[in-house]
Amino acid sequence: QKFVYDFTEGNKDLKDLLGGKGANLAEMTNLGLPVPPGFTITTEACKTYLESGSEPAELRDEVSAHLDALERKMGKKLGQADNPLLVSVRSGAKFSMPGMMDTVLNIGLSDASVAGLAAQADNERFAWDSYRRLIQMFGKTVLGVDGELFEDALDEAKAAKKVASDTDLDAADLKKLVATFKEIVKAATGRDFPQDPREQMDLAIKAVFDSWNGDRAKLYRRQERIPHDLGTAVNVCSMVFGNLGPDSGTGVAFTRDPASGHQGVYGDYLQNAQGEDVVAGIRNTVPLAELESIDKKSYDQLMQIMETLETHYKDLCDIEFTIERGQLWMLQTRVGKRTAGAAFRIATQLVDQGLIDEAEALQRVNGAQLAQLMFPKFDENAKVEQIGRGIAASPGAAVGKAVFDSYTAVKWSRSGEKVILIRRETNPDDLDGMIAAEGILTSRGGKTSHAAVVARGMGKTCVCGAEELEVDTKRRRMTTTSGVVVEEGDVVSIDGSTGKVYLGEVPVVPSPVVEYFEGRMHAGADDADELVQAVHRIMAYADRVRRLRVRANADNAEDASRARRFGAQGIGLCRTEHMFLGERRQYVERLILADTDEEREASLKALLPLQKQDFVELFEAMDGLPVTVRLLDPPLHEFLPDITELSVRVALAEARKEPHENDLRLLQAVHRLHEQNPMLGLRGVRLGLVIPGLFTMQVRAIAEAAAQRIDAKGDPRAEIMIPLVGTVQELELVREEAEQVIAEVQAQTGVELKLALGTMIELPRAAVTAGQIAEAAEFFSFGTNDLTQTVWGFSRDDVEASFFTAYLEKGIFGVSPFETIDKDGVGALVRSAVQAGRATRPDIKLGVCGEHGGDPESVHFFHEVGLDYVSCSPFRIPVARLEAGRAAA
Ligand code: PEP
Ligand code: MG
Repeated sequence: QKFVYDFTEGNKDLKDLLGGKGANLAEMTNLGLPVPPGFTITTEACKTYLESGSEPAELRDEVSAHLDALERKMGKKLGQADNPLLVSVRSGAKFSMPGMMDTVLNIGLSDASVAGLAAQADNERFAWDSYRRLIQMFGKTVLGVDGELFEDALDEAKAAKKVASDTDLDAADLKKLVATFKEIVKAATGRDFPQDPREQMDLAIKAVFDSWNGDRAKLYRRQERIPHDLGTAVNVCSMVFGNLGPDSGTGVAFTRDPASGHQGVYGDYLQNAQGEDVVAGIRNTVPLAELESIDKKSYDQLMQIMETLETHYKDLCDIEFTIERGQLWMLQTRVGKRTAGAAFRIATQLVDQGLIDEAEALQRVNGAQLAQLMFPKFDENAKVEQIGRGIAASPGAAVGKAVFDSYTAVKWSRSGEKVILIRRETNPDDLDGMIAAEGILTSRGGKTSHAAVVARGMGKTCVCGAEELEVDTKRRRMTTTSGVVVEEGDVVSIDGSTGKVYLGEVPVVPSPVVEYFEGRMHAGADDADELVQAVHRIMAYADRVRRLRVRANADNAEDASRARRFGAQGIGLCRTEHMFLGERRQYVERLILADTDEEREASLKALLPLQKQDFVELFEAMDGLPVTVRLLDPPLHEFLPDITELSVRVALAEARKEPHENDLRLLQAVHRLHEQNPMLGLRGVRLGLVIPGLFTMQVRAIAEAAAQRIDAKGDPRAEIMIPLVGTVQELELVREEAEQVIAEVQAQTGVELKLALGTMIELPRAAVTAGQIAEAAEFFSFGTNDLTQTVWGFSRDDVEASFFTAYLEKGIFGVSPFETIDKDGVGALVRSAVQAGRATRPDIKLGVCGEHGGDPESVHFFHEVGLDYVSCSPFRIPVARLEAGRAAA
């Protein structure tokens, strides 16, 4: 096994092994672009280290060999006193984790080599500044020294000299500072700052390995659902310097605008600075276009390289570069993050440019992005008080109370407040605050600042670099140039699509993408913006290739119609219990209280026409498409008043000697129906079997409604679904009764009815005996909510609030199994039930109607196991269509 790859040996497809950064550095090297030479230590080496606690035995020799080769290529040796080679040691995992892991620059500097660097650069100040940066970075990240100690010493040095900026410190000052920094290291760690360059390098490599398991990195991975066992690669790269004077500098560029997708010159440049200064958003940058007048040669070369990269990667790339004394160097490239809207636009633009085909375009977008585009925006006609404007860094409309630190953001959001996190700039320590906030506002930093990059990754609204806002985190307030003061707790609204910042709550309006799906905006129309056109095209690609059909969970004609507009191909779940609420509750109460057959029949009779009318409307809205009606599922006590309320009412009436006979009967019924574990109690098919006439009333309503629609020349496609079946016997009993009722309705109306009858698979036993159940079921619909509940033994109503946070923190799962299907457990049951069901009944129809039906990752799973359709809430239908297309493409 080989643990070290020279940049000339790798390529962009080796991200698993070399990490994103290493793979792309190799790719650029092989494209002949100016990349400083170096090598990459593989993720395998990191994994071995993390698992066993020590590096693989071969690693040291391999690193030595590659270092030798690097030294020969560069004509100087690492840390060589008179002419030192310096290197950077950077982390680089498969998935980009901006700022989450460690990097150390200027490795190789020591008391011995600092003079050599000064001679090389012909700049003594620069050499000492580089050395103090090394001790500071190395001290903090490798040796674990509190970074504040260095910052304080730097501030003291400036104060002693009565200057404000680092650049006002001269070589002698910095030399003194180096001595102080070394003392800080000695005092904090009990050892001297290592002078052996190879030791520096080895320790830095180990620190990068260790940073994979740092708290920040772990939190980020959970948030982004990145597996914890990938490990990071380490890139050792010869240093180039952007801080050698005005003919040097560093910058970040995008091959197209990551917010709109438009081609052009996008990026930031910082003269006379090192790379970290830009990414950290510490100093304010100039737009990349200004580089043309600063250094035309490098600018032209950069433009050319960007074009090469775009055609090569066939995608938007982002780039980090450094100019050292007029020589351009590429430090990094990767396929760039982008806003959701830009993802759709870029995908279609690239199709138009002939760079990718439609199938590839589908892989360039995802359901989460589409969901994000369906968020509302601020109402343009609202009266607003704009208090500032920054850079539109990540789109969306966010409203919340101003908070100025991450701790408060987390605390307030836990107690249900919506907050906007306001900072001068963010750094990786702000991550949990950013997660908790509705949106992020900073007064410093550009589109590539930490806040912007991380917010875009999370899909959070972000406005950054709003410079007219003076953020005072100590006093927890922000002041505008016009003197408006925003205190902690004041409501602000930020628009991540325009960069505008408002005082107070601004009302929001629906998204154009929703307007399009609703049919209120047409993709061909003049006023349709580029985004709607792009979404329209991508949805058409998805619909063309997908195999899964998409149905809606809808209980009324209004939802059904919306679902149809959004592209639903039927209803996969109509929960009839939703039809028993409101005024109709009284009939259900009477049904429950019935002492005699007559009473019970009377209440069912009252319900029948109401149910029938519900179904007529539903079948009409979904004319020509299947409508799966589920018979009553929840425990009956859900239709009765709350036990405490009722007890109080009875007690009061008794005290006042008022008549309360009905309430008393109700109370007795509530007691009688009380269950310790209602979710495992008298519900679903069990209700149908013990309450005479209930299911037959519902079947009759469905059959009569269908007959009425046929009479009216409609095309109803009703399917009757039995919930919570555990054994085929239950289903057979219900089936016999249902068939009898349908036959009666046919005889009465003279209309021939074709009503499919099937079941939900939502208990483990049903899944395991699916082969038997299929004898009596024309279709299965997997109820993955209850199936997850019963397979895991997790109460779906309680666990998310009680212990899931702890489970997520401990990494037991990266996402709730109620949100994304648990493939290994619940998913395995679905897979085997699909096979068993088809073995018994080859033409059985198979779908899913649990919440997972609209979850992107789960949709891919359901495609893979061969379901015929997914069913989800109307609003998620476009997402399901898109993901079904992506799964098939
Ligand atoms: C299910 O259990 O997955 C389901 C769709 O039914 P309900 O959510 O109504 O229990
Ligand atoms: Mg269920």
